[in-house]
Amino acid sequence: MRKINYIVIHCAATKPSADIGAAEIRKWHVEGNGWRDIGYHFVIRRNGTVEDGRPVEQIGAHVSGHNADSIGICLAGGLDETGRAKNSYTPEQWKALKTLVATLKTKYANAKVTGHRDFPGVKKDCPCFDAQEWAFREGL
Ligand SMILES: [Zn+2]
Repeated sequence: MRKINYIVIHCAATKPSADIGAAEIRKWHVEGNGWRDIGYHFVIRRNGTVEDGRPVEQIGAHVSGHNADSIGICLAGGLDETGRAKNSYTPEQWKALKTLVATLKTKYANAKVTGHRDFPGVKKDCPCFDAQEWAFREGL
C-alpha cells in the first residue's frame, strides 16, 4: 500500500439541489477530462450515502502535487443555488464525512485531514469550509 500523508476534503461545486454521486462525477472526469477514472476515492451524496470512487490503493487525481500520498473525498454540494461558493452541506453529509474520516484514520493514523484549498497555490474555495478546523473540532 502507498503511504497516505493526507486525507483531502473536496466539494463537487454543485448546487444543493443537485443530487449527484460517484457515477456523475466519474462521467465528468472520464468523458469531460479524459481521465481513466473518477479522480476521488470517495463521494458523499447529499443524503449522506458514501459511494466508492477510485480504489484507495490507486493514486487519485484530485490535488496537484499530492495525489501520490493522499486520499480524496468529495462532498456533493459546495455552492448555493445561485452558484456561489457556500458551505451548503446536509447534516447527513457531515455525519457521513465524520464516520468515513474516522474509519480512514484507524488505517492511516498519521494522515493529516485537510481541505483542497489548504495546499499552496490552490486558487479555489474547495471544499468551502475549514477542513482542518472541522477535523480538530471532531477530534479526528
Ligand atoms: Zn477540490
